[in-house]
Amino acid sequence: MSTTDTDVLVIGAGPTGLLLAGDLATAGIDVTLVERRPHGLGNMTRAFGVHARTLEQLDARGLADELLATGTTLATARLFGRLDLDMTRLPTRFNHLLVTPQYEVERLLERRAVAAGVTFRYGTELRGLRQDADGATAELTDADGTPLTLRARHLVGADGVRSSVRTALGLPFPGRSVIRSIVLADVRLAEEPADSFSVSGSGDTFAFLAPFGDGWYRVMGWTRTRQVADSEPVDLDEVREIARLALGTDYGMHDARWISRFHSDERQAPAYRVGRAFLAGDAAHVHSPAGGQGMNTGLQDAANLSWRLTAVLRGEAPDPEALLDGYQSERHPVGAMVLRSSGTIVRLAMAHTPLTRAARSLAARFLNAVPPASARAMSMISGLGVSYAPAPGTGRPSGRRAPDVHLREGRLYELLRQGEFVLIAPEGAAPTLPATAPVTPKHLVRATWPDPSKKAAVLVRPDGYVHWARH
Ligand SMILES: Cc1cc2nc3c(=O)[nH]c(=O)nc-3n(C[C@H](O)[C@H](O)[C@H](O)COP(=O)(O)OP(=O)(O)OC[C@H]3O[C@@H](n4cnc5c(N)ncnc54)[C@H](O)[C@@H]3O)c2cc1C
Repeated sequence: MSTTDTDVLVIGAGPTGLLLAGDLATAGIDVTLVERRPHGLGNMTRAFGVHARTLEQLDARGLADELLATGTTLATARLFGRLDLDMTRLPTRFNHLLVTPQYEVERLLERRAVAAGVTFRYGTELRGLRQDADGATAELTDADGTPLTLRARHLVGADGVRSSVRTALGLPFPGRSVIRSIVLADVRLAEEPADSFSVSGSGDTFAFLAPFGDGWYRVMGWTRTRQVADSEPVDLDEVREIARLALGTDYGMHDARWISRFHSDERQAPAYRVGRAFLAGDAAHVHSPAGGQGMNTGLQDAANLSWRLTAVLRGEAPDPEALLDGYQSERHPVGAMVLRSSGTIVRLAMAHTPLTRAARSLAARFLNAVPPASARAMSMISGLGVSYAPAPGTGRPSGRRAPDVHLREGRLYELLRQGEFVLIAPEGAAPTLPATAPVTPKHLVRATWPDPSKKAAVLVRPDGYVHWARH
């Protein structure tokens, strides 16, 4: 058997790789995180919306309250001038959207990963990858171009949309381009908009504004009449003009700290696992920024994969192959759903034929008039509505999101901060897991119902989903 340098090699220190590496190291797994960028050079602002389920995942890592302090929360959003999305009724303590720059999420996740003992190798790039029965060997170059190899028992490509891991695995990235020449800027405004978050436009043009809460606003805009390559220069005048076309005013935008032009594709890798290698985040799926789902979906991928790798490396999974395959079977359908929902929002925003505009108006009227339908839409966009099929041998409600119940020992999501399974049972009970359960965790956090009449036993996975329950 060949020797390994590390248990898990994570490629890419974006939000996905940072959360995954931090989880593994918190559980005592040896992790190396390789990042092409030099240390200290952050990613751009990019994502700015953190949804409720992501905040719950961050709460389960003790980071949500600190992140909330970096931005502003929005309880409602308005799409297409008439569709109101209400987050106040989401069944969570985070019944809102947090607007904060992506680098704030990365800053907290990096600090946690460092504290947990992740070995960081900045300025190091993956060039190639080989696998055998015992592990994966990564071919890398360091900052001065010197080649080096690292061997790991498992490797995760969290290396973004142009993933070298995906290429090295020979996986295609099928899909298509959805929208091009979107302009983005972080600006200050002379005049405050009436709606704090609204997407408006005619179908030939659209724009939206979202406040970061510290005087800066994110503006995104698009117009059918100016379709150019990403490399074409963009300035504040162009952003202002699109805002005037779409919103009727540019609110006196000034002092842009960041302006960019980009295009958006809808693509998904057919497999998230090939042998000992995995894909997560943008490396596995990419879609339009409508709905603000990219970073959120990547963080949920990472949360789903980390406990599986931990259980396999600790020898807690009776069938390690099945447990690792569960990552694909749970997360691939979620990626496909996000592609569909974000694609629908962007196509409705771009609707310009009488037929497509009528469809948009009908969809908005339907969602406004049928509260259960709009609640369902909000539940899926926020990530709270995502649930998985029951794992073999466990039965319902296995796979469902565990709500943040109050227990004698504290809130469930506080107890999950130890990074382990949480077993909730009546006082004095010692429930035994069925032999068919996909994981029989050796490390458990035990908790008791505050209500002594409650007789159920529930085992909650480290990512906040029910693993097994007995009533
Ligand atoms: C304009 C814009 C707005 C967006 N808005 C939102 C939003 O509101 N909400 C939302 O959820 N998402 C949004 N997104 C998407 C979000 O930014 C991405 O989904 C998110 O960054 C993906 O995280 P990741 O960690 O998977 O990949 P990335 O953030 O792309 O990180 C990948 C990392 O891998 C490194 N890397 C790449 N190749 C190699 C290699 N060969 N070797 C070593 N390192 C490598 C890169 O340097 C990078 O640091 C937006 C994106 C854009 C462009």
